[in-house]
Amino acid sequence: MNATTVTQRLRSQQINTDTNILLVEDEQDLLELLRYNLTREGFSVQTAMTGEDGLKKAREIGKQLDLVLLDLMLPGIDGLEVCRTLKGRDHTAGIPVIMLTAKGEESDIVKGLEYGADDYITKPFSPRVLLARINAVLRRSEGEAQGNDSSVIQIGSVQIDTDRHEVLVKGEPVTLTATEFKLLSLLASKAGRVFTRQQIIETIHEGYAAVTDRSVDVQVVSLRRKLGEAGRSIETVRGVGYRFRD
Ligand code: CA
Repeated sequence: MNATTVTQRLRSQQINTDTNILLVEDEQDLLELLRYNLTREGFSVQTAMTGEDGLKKAREIGKQLDLVLLDLMLPGIDGLEVCRTLKGRDHTAGIPVIMLTAKGEESDIVKGLEYGADDYITKPFSPRVLLARINAVLRRSEGEAQGNDSSVIQIGSVQIDTDRHEVLVKGEPVTLTATEFKLLSLLASKAGRVFTRQQIIETIHEGYAAVTDRSVDVQVVSLRRKLGEAGRSIETVRGVGYRFRD
């Protein structure tokens, strides 16, 4: 191992050691497996096996807590309630939450996202995929904490200037309606994050009651068409919503 590799390794370990993850999961085997893998990556991991204990630990760790991995199906207070409580309290609202869910829990996933969860992963998952999700969510939350002053979002071939209301794809201007522009800006502002239809309606139509889920779908179709090949970056997440691929 050369000096650079050692330095790099130390640096990445240091970043992770400073990162406190709270893992709330009632299945002992999965809890141990995740704890092992996350600790090996250098994260500092605390665990809870019930929703009550999860909330208690979150309160104890306080500002040092960087991320919560939250199983939804828990005895007692379930994961959704834990999520809602965390996101509803000032001192924990900013802590990213990744939900651990089972197949077929789409309606719970939608609820969790609407309570403010940042992402979800469906069981069974590989530790590698989970790590990638954790890192993506941590990157996003770090970017938000630093406050991104730039009004220009660049993802792949798509460039969005939110001040000037301009969209370029591969340098070519694309004309969007005001609603399509808001929709694209919303999805692209947090690439990789799934937005539910309700969240889209609340953001781009300010919750206007007459806007239906179906009209969101129609706007997505139209936006995709106008973006051409780049439109494929807007993914439908079945039963949940839409996201701009990271
Ligand atoms: Ca469970």
